[in-house]
Amino acid sequence: MADPRDPIADLKRIAFLLEAAMEPSYRVRAFRSAAATLAELGPEGVADRARAGTLRELSGIGEVTERTILESLRGEEPVYLRRLEATGGIPMAEGAAAIRAALRGDLHAHTLASDGGGSIREMAETAIGLGHAYLVITDHSPRLTVANGLSAERLEEQLDEIATLNAELAPFRLLTGIEVDINEDGSLDQSDELLGRLDVVVGSVHSQLRAESRPMTIRMVTALANPHLDVLGHCTGRMTTRKRRRPPSDFDADLVFAAAARFDKAIEINARPERLDPPKRLLRLAVEAGCRVSIDTDAHAPGQLAWLPNGCERAFLCGVTPERIVNAMELDDLLAWTASHVP
Ligand SMILES: [Zn+2]
Ligand SMILES: [Zn+2]
Repeated sequence: MADPRDPIADLKRIAFLLEAAMEPSYRVRAFRSAAATLAELGPEGVADRARAGTLRELSGIGEVTERTILESLRGEEPVYLRRLEATGGIPMAEGAAAIRAALRGDLHAHTLASDGGGSIREMAETAIGLGHAYLVITDHSPRLTVANGLSAERLEEQLDEIATLNAELAPFRLLTGIEVDINEDGSLDQSDELLGRLDVVVGSVHSQLRAESRPMTIRMVTALANPHLDVLGHCTGRMTTRKRRRPPSDFDADLVFAAAARFDKAIEINARPERLDPPKRLLRLAVEAGCRVSIDTDAHAPGQLAWLPNGCERAFLCGVTPERIVNAMELDDLLAWTASHVP
């Protein structure tokens, strides 16, 4: 067995790194109060309780802090700490910039066809100006009538328009896509035939956001299991601006992220300033679950394609590394990944 580490020092180091990453103070307090509890107990007492498996009977010690303490006592660097250390020493601006530099494109953008403010060409030209190698056009699906969702017929017309533009814009590549509504039963709001022809499918929940956790979990897991879906868009649906505030949807995040990891789908980090979805706590969970992520602007106007750094900052703070980011892949690898979902 490796030499035991000092669990108190590890807990305090975690609290420090969380504070440096601007985490809410209640989350930091859990680690500081666990450290205080251990200090009171003394090393012998801690070791006894660890052996007896009774650490959690102490006030201030929960599942995460217990796991951390046990790892320290075994002489292992706690997983929670290791994840924070991976990013903790680097100033945020630098870490976020490194992630931004790794991105090759954007997988979520709207045009005039649904509720966006720019034509496909304007979006493409802006993306080229930003140095993107590709941009996925993801207008809304039929059910979202408030956003002028595209019928099958309109989407087919869009595919032709994209093919024509691509001939002109190469080597830049416009990719075909959709932000398809995830219906209440978890099915997707477009035909399988058409979804199968698209390069990238982002699926999002846009209705019944206040549903109970159980049906919402089943809805999301069903969508993740659908071979056509590649990216789960803005998973909690929260809105954070004062004008338009909406709490995150309720679902079993462990189960949803496990499904995403199992089916090799990406969890989107939505970079819109009013969304910034998922919240950091959930994003850390997704990273821990081994999920891939995509960092997308969900741009509804050309200038909004510049919002990627918002998402990069969160990715950095939550320990996302470039090899987990699908839009850090080169075009061919990205397309191979989405194709791999369809049997
Ligand atoms: Zn959406
Ligand atoms: Zn969108």
